[in-house]
Amino acid sequence: MVERQLRGRGIRNEAVLAAMAAVPRELFVPSDLLKYAYGDEALPIEAGQSISQPYIVAQMTELLEPRPGMRVLEVGTGSGYQAAVLATIGCRVITIERHAELAATAAARLAQLGLLDLVRVEVGDGSLGRPDDAPFEGIAVTAAAPAVPVALRGQLAEGGRLVVPVGSPDLQEMVLVVRHGEDYEEFPSGACVFVPLVGAGGFGEREARRRPLFGRLRL
Ligand code: SAM
Repeated sequence: MVERQLRGRGIRNEAVLAAMAAVPRELFVPSDLLKYAYGDEALPIEAGQSISQPYIVAQMTELLEPRPGMRVLEVGTGSGYQAAVLATIGCRVITIERHAELAATAAARLAQLGLLDLVRVEVGDGSLGRPDDAPFEGIAVTAAAPAVPVALRGQLAEGGRLVVPVGSPDLQEMVLVVRHGEDYEEFPSGACVFVPLVGAGGFGEREARRRPLFGRLRL
C-alpha cells in the first residue's frame, strides 16, 4: 500500500508514509471486508458511511503538513483511521462525528492502539467547528462541503491549513486553504468523491440523501 499507492503516486512526507505503514488499517474496516483493508479503494462502514481510500487519507494528511504537537480538528471521524494516522504522527486531534455509533467504535479502536491520550472523539455536527477549542493549526474535513465552510476557516490559527473537499454531493475538488491574517489563500488539489458533510455548515439532510450518480461508492 505505502510503496505502490502512496509513494508511487507522489506522497513524499516521510512522517505520513511511516504513520500509514504503522497504523493497522485492518482494525478500521468491517470484519467481512478484512481482505480489502489495504486495497486501493474506499470501503463501506456502518451507518452508510465509508473509510476513505488510503491515497486520499495520505494526500489530506500531507496537505496539512502535520508535525508532533500540532493541534488538528477533524470533521468526520468515520472509522477513526485518519485520526489514528494523525495521532501516530504526534498531532493532538479533536475529531467530531455525527453518528454516535461510529464515534463509539472509533474511540474503542483508538483506545486499543493507545492513542486516546492524543485524540478526543466527540459526537455532534462538526460543520461549524469547535469555536471553544480554536484556533487549530490544521483542520481536515473528511466529508464533502458545498463551499469552504467559513466558520471552519475562521478557526484556523495564523498560517493554519484547512483541507476540505468542495463541490456537489456527486463530485468535489480537494481544496487546501492557508490562513494569512484575514486573507485565505486557496489551492485546488484534485478531484475526489466523498460522502456529504451534513449539517449547518454543510448540506441539508434531503440533499445529502440523493443517490450518488452511477451508484459510485463515495470516499
Ligand atoms: N475520516 C474517516 C476515516 O478515516 O474513516 C472517513 C470519514 S467518512 C468519508 C465521512 C464522515 O463524516 C462520516 O462518518 C459522516 O457521518 C461524517 N459526517 C458528515 N457530516 C458530518 C458533520 N456535520 N459532523 C460530523 N461528522 C460528519
